[in-house]
This record gives sequence, C-alpha cells and structure tokens, in this order.
Amino acid sequence: MKNLKDEALSYHSSAPKGKLGVVPTKPFMTQHDLSMAYTPGVAVPCMEIYDDPEKAYEYTGKENLVAVISNGTAVLGLGDIGALASKPVMEGKGLLFKVLAGVNTYDIEIDTDDVEQFVQTVKMIAPTFGGINLEDIKAPQCFEIERRLKEEVNLPLMHDDQHGTAIITSAALLNALEIVGKRIGDIRVVVNGAGAAATACARLYLSLGVKPENLVMCDSKGVITRRRDKLTPEKAQFATDRDITTLAEALAGADMFLGVSKAGVLTGDMVKTMAPDPIVFALANPDPEIPYEEAKASRPDLIFATGRSDYPNQVNNVIGFPYIFRGALDVRATAINEEMKIAAAKAIAGLAKQPVTGEVLHAYNLTELSFGRDYLIPKPLDKRLLTTVSIAVAKAAIESGVAAKVITDWDTYAAGLVC
Ligand code: NAP
Ligand code: MG
Repeated sequence: MKNLKDEALSYHSSAPKGKLGVVPTKPFMTQHDLSMAYTPGVAVPCMEIYDDPEKAYEYTGKENLVAVISNGTAVLGLGDIGALASKPVMEGKGLLFKVLAGVNTYDIEIDTDDVEQFVQTVKMIAPTFGGINLEDIKAPQCFEIERRLKEEVNLPLMHDDQHGTAIITSAALLNALEIVGKRIGDIRVVVNGAGAAATACARLYLSLGVKPENLVMCDSKGVITRRRDKLTPEKAQFATDRDITTLAEALAGADMFLGVSKAGVLTGDMVKTMAPDPIVFALANPDPEIPYEEAKASRPDLIFATGRSDYPNQVNNVIGFPYIFRGALDVRATAINEEMKIAAAKAIAGLAKQPVTGEVLHAYNLTELSFGRDYLIPKPLDKRLLTTVSIAVAKAAIESGVAAKVITDWDTYAAGLVC
C-alpha cells in the first residue's frame, strides 16, 4: 500500500499539478490574433449569441464541454469526504472523458449538502456547458437533485453513479440471459441495496422487461415490503407484498442477484438456493458482496461479475459515460432519456458479441477472449466503444425527439469519431 500511496501522490503532484489543463484552440501569436480572440473581435460572436442563444454552439466551446459536478458526499468507497477532497476524482473523470471520447470537461466541486443550493448553483452555471455529469452525490438527495435539474435544465444530464451503473449492468444482464437462454420477462431479480445505483438499476431493468412483481429490493434492514413504514418514495416504489423479510428468503429460487450494497452480505449457501444458471453481480467496492472465490466455489453454473479489474466481467462505468455524452452532445440532445439509456445498454451488449480485437487482447495481456460467461461486456480499452455506443445514443436521441441537431450521414460521423 505504501508504494501505491507514494506513486499516486507523485502522479498527482508532478508538474503541472492535477490531471487536466486548458489548451488554447485558436491562433494567439500576433496582435491581430489577439484582437480576434479578445476585444474588439470577440464582441461580434457575443452579439450573435445575444441575438440567438443557439449560436453559442457555433462560436464557443459549449458544444463539446461537459461539467463534472459533485458535492463530494458519496465519493467512490470513501463516503462523504466533502467537495474539495472529491476534486481528484472529478479531474480523473475529466481525463477519461477526454482520452476516450474527446469530450472537454470542467470539474466543479460545490460545497453544500443542501439540495436547493446545489440545484440553484448548477442551474446558474448551466449556460457554460453542453452537458452535465452529476457525480458522487449521496442518496436520497441525488434523486431530488437530478429530478429537479432534469426539469429545469435543457441539457443532456445524468447522475453517472445511478444511470451509468444501470446501463452497464443492463448490458451485462442482457448478455447473461442470452447465454443461459432465459427471457427477461420470466426472471426473478433480487436487488440488494436501495441507494443511488440500486434504484436506477431496478428502474432500467423494469424498462427492459423485468416484471415488477418479479423484483425484490433489500436495504440494510432487509427486504423492502409494504409492511414497512417511513419508506422513501424511491424505496416505496419497489416494496413487495411477499411475506419475506431477509435476503436469504428473497434469494431462494431467484435468477439474478444485483449487489450494490456492501461487502460480505452474500454467502455461498445463499447462492446455492438460487435458480439454475444464476446471475450474480456483486458490485460493492472495493470488496464485493461475496468474494470471487467463494461465489465460484458455490456452484459451477454461476455467472458472476464484480466491480473489480482483477477478475472477469468487471462492471465499470467507464465503458458507458464517455460515449453516452459523446452521442448526446453531437446531436445537441436536450436530455438523456430512457430510450438513449436502453440504446447504450444494447450497443454495449452487442459489442461484447463481436470478435475481440488483437489490440484489446494485447492491452490486457490475453491470448483469447470471446463472448461467454467470463466475457459479458466489452473491456474498457476497446476502442470500438466510441463509435458503437456514441452512434446508438445519438440515433436514439434523434428517434425519441430530444435532438436539436440531426445527423443523417452516419459513416461520415463515425469517421470523425477519433480521439
Ligand atoms: P448508496 O447510495 O450509499 O446505497 C447503498 C445502499 O446499500 C443503501 O440503500 C443501504 O441501505 C444499502 N445497504 C447497506 N448495507 C446493506 C446490507 N447489509 N444489505 C442490504 N443493503 C445494504 O451507494 P451506491 O452509490 O448505490 O453504491 C453502493 C455500492 O455499490 C458501493 O459499494 C459502490 O461502490 C458500488 N457500486 C459499484 C459500481 C460498479 O462496480 N460499477 C457502480 C455503482 C455502485 P439503507 O438504504 O438502508 O442505508
Ligand atoms: Mg462515481
């Protein structure tokens, strides 16, 4: 750990400090250049935008600029470390946006736990940006913040801890179901955890065809039933009538377990009671709900995924968010809606069924990798994600009527997607 600590601190503190910089994109070497970049030339685009706000997309960097915004209340596995301490994570997210999808970002850390203050701050800075990635905001405040901002800001906007996770696990679920030959409308699902990730995952699974009566959600007190009082609206919508109270009871005969809760709450004995070919996504970070070895030892027909990079089937939001925003920005979407999320999930699922490139094998030091129980979703360094997911999301935005700009020549668009 000492090595990791030293290496991480030196990585972040080497000059220039931090992980992102600002780079001029226009000539600036002569007096004439400066008179274009600043006064008097700059007044011309100002007045164009004053007359027509849409022109901001022509004369500024707005079109390709995403705000990565947090208040630091639910950072990675670190918890509520506050706005300032979350900055390395937000800069890191910006780095990934840039190198994977060519998206520019500013990280904005807002020092408040208050929903109203947070919403008003984001609303007031929204004109600067083409999109907004909300990040690492604790539940239940994150639900109200996102709901309000979706209503009040006309930009593609997504809380990645919720919807990124929902999209990636949906892709993995669709492929797992294909492998085991089950229909989504028939499966019984147990979602363990009822926070930011769990709620969004459960909602997207319902959109994809899981029947509400086949989904049970558990929180730290056990199964969320209608008999419980003082449930938040997000928990109440998943409350079951079934006469069960524990995770173990919920899991008997279930086809899927999604864990977005905490380490060690699932046992091999519980997994043994699940239906044939059970799907277990144990995503608590850094340690899953059940260790890989214990899960795999529990039964041979298990399909298993975690959030960890050292085991097969890593569920990692990085295979989604850069490309979801790339597609949304490129058609000037006014939202990230259900259709776009489903399109992203299906595109990610589809890519895992394509032959793996030599480049990916090399990057992961592998000799063989193909669609199956240990390869449900593409690897983060698969460059085809850029075209595959961005195009799917852009098309879904156009078809669902939230795109202000329409693309018709998809080959030319795809050819321009390089970073
Ligand atoms: P969150 O909003 O804080 O939610 C955590 C939820 O877990 C809460 O609803 C909590 O219940 C529940 N919980 C705690 N102990 C439990 C137990 N023993 N049994 C059942 N539920 C329990 O956190 P989050 O953002 O959703 O993330 C949850 C976990 O998933 C974290 O470890 C996170 O790192 C991980 N995650 C991984 C990925 C990934 O791998 N790609 C993506 C997203 C999240 P109460 O409501 O009763 O407090
Ligand atoms: Mg996050």
